[in-house]
Amino acid sequence: MSLKEALFKAGVVGQGGAGFPTHVKAGSSVEFMLANGAECEPLVHKDLEIMVAHPEEIVRGFELMKNAVGAARAFFGIKKKNARAVKAIGEALGDVGETTLLGDFYPSGDEYELVYEATGRLIEPGGIPLGVGCVVNNVETLYNVARAEAGVPLTDTFLSVNGAVQTPAAFFAPVGTSIRECLDAAGGATVPEPAVFVGGAMMGRLTFDLDEPTTKTTAGFIVLPRDHYLVTRMNREERAQHRIGKSACDQCSYCTEFCPRYLLGYNVQPHKVMRSLEFTKTGADVWNQMAELCCECGLCTLYACPEDLYPREACQMGKREMRKLGIDYEQKEPPRVHPMKEGRRVPIKQLVKKLHIAEYDRDTPYLERGPEPTTVRILLSQHVGAPSEPVVSKGDRVSKGDLVAEPPKDALGARMHASIEGEVVEVASSHLTIKR
Ligand code: SF4
Ligand code: SF4
Repeated sequence: MSLKEALFKAGVVGQGGAGFPTHVKAGSSVEFMLANGAECEPLVHKDLEIMVAHPEEIVRGFELMKNAVGAARAFFGIKKKNARAVKAIGEALGDVGETTLLGDFYPSGDEYELVYEATGRLIEPGGIPLGVGCVVNNVETLYNVARAEAGVPLTDTFLSVNGAVQTPAAFFAPVGTSIRECLDAAGGATVPEPAVFVGGAMMGRLTFDLDEPTTKTTAGFIVLPRDHYLVTRMNREERAQHRIGKSACDQCSYCTEFCPRYLLGYNVQPHKVMRSLEFTKTGADVWNQMAELCCECGLCTLYACPEDLYPREACQMGKREMRKLGIDYEQKEPPRVHPMKEGRRVPIKQLVKKLHIAEYDRDTPYLERGPEPTTVRILLSQHVGAPSEPVVSKGDRVSKGDLVAEPPKDALGARMHASIEGEVVEVASSHLTIKR
């Protein structure tokens, strides 16, 4: 069986972000293979811990992918400050690839940044790494590539729990475990009404619902008290965010000057997008185009803006508006790196301070034993592509690793497998539930 087939069979998807099905990447042909271990979300340390605990499997997955895509060179991106991971991966790497040591900046884990740092190439505006001869895989994905080749399906996700919990930790959890059970595995929340950032404070999502299930792409949970600055700031409803922006933005342009995509040479100018919040009655369709190449990293909103406004959210709205109007923005000129790029990089330490989370900045040691839920809720859409369709019915008994859902024929998607042994007690349009 080819690696591509093994990855499809095992349901492996990218675990560094959106969940792009890995078997599709394995079928490409490129010059450079890149491993992304540059985790940069403050307080999320799952990539660090998995690199230290499972370097051999990760490097094996890296080698398998490198061979599958026929890459001549392979780069393994890790932050220099994560000495434990640099050592563990360095010892396992042999002649499979070269280590690319990265600074402790946000967002060094962004694919555009990593490709540039490792290869010196700039992805075409709006493009993907493939366009410049690169395939990038997150380190947890590579761990699952190695397991898939050995015939083991993806049933558990590796995540870290940090913030207002008793004992911050990193562990594997069966896909579909609730947030509540993950927090319990980290000793439980230390605040009465926890607010949780899923995936991180910068690019993650805020939730108060502890019954939400984990997915294959869940990187971690940051727990904060409900009245924390960051929770209040990100819990403001969209209309209010834009109303404040409209009256308070003084067009200082700091949001643009610190924007990582702008500094790499892409035409992203959030301060101009802010003008579309009805500063004037005209021009919104022009200003909104400066949002198209925004990667929604959040640096403008959560770090750069001295007025605590919401330029990222203005960009998100700008993109929606353009789609409604059927406008496609295309940057004609090739990207050219800004001469001030190096000097304007944002150290994680400084970002943590700005986010008011320095008191929660703790290690998340690897736990051998994660949560053992009695019930899991497996979402049918947790990857890029079409939602999967159940292949089991209510009342069926399943073992861990059994196929429970697969993508429609010929559609982009990923298979799902039972993450615990038990009985299928619910098959709904959006998920299925298994009880131990
Ligand atoms: S940094 Fe804030 S105040 Fe300055 S232009 Fe951007 S949104 Fe407006
Ligand atoms: S979120 Fe802000 S800083 Fe990040 S890419 Fe978009 S405009 Fe730039």
